[in-house]
Amino acid sequence: MEQRATHKITSSTWHRELVPHAEEYIREITTRKEHLLIRQSSFHRAEVESLHCRHIVDIETKECTCNVWKLTGLPCIHAIAFIGKKEHPLWHTYVNDYYYIYRYRLSYDGAIAMLPGKDQWQVVQDLVEVGAPNTSRPRGRPKRRRLPIFWKRKEKFTNVADVDFWVIIEVHARIH
Ligand SMILES: [Zn+2]
Repeated sequence: MEQRATHKITSSTWHRELVPHAEEYIREITTRKEHLLIRQSSFHRAEVESLHCRHIVDIETKECTCNVWKLTGLPCIHAIAFIGKKEHPLWHTYVNDYYYIYRYRLSYDGAIAMLPGKDQWQVVQDLVEVGAPNTSRPRGRPKRRRLPIFWKRKEKFTNVADVDFWVIIEVHARIH
């Protein structure tokens, strides 16, 4: 209850679009100096190559083959490099909704009902007694009925091959 209230009060001091952690991430990654080669194939897609690897970025579906964007909801360095090529990029539009402050506030919206002292509790009249549920299933582990049936069926067979078959099944049933 107190933790929830603390989160709610803390978030009231935030005045940007994203939560501070996401704002910090965007600020850090967009100023990072990394040599990446970008080959744009369409308006939304590009191939981004670094010294050791190459990835495909799609800014429409918010995906990169490195999977960081999909897993974290925050654009990876490859996506940032591609988005950075655009004029006046709106970084926050490439971040998952969960990092928006309005979503954070929604999750801590409302309040948990408080509980007065026990001496102030109201005594409820017309109580209905609740007993154990009605069930046809007996308590404990269910009994196994397979073995006696197999024994009976084995006696009916006169063919040796059939008897062997039921003996095998019986042995299997005893093991399991
Ligand atoms: Zn990536």
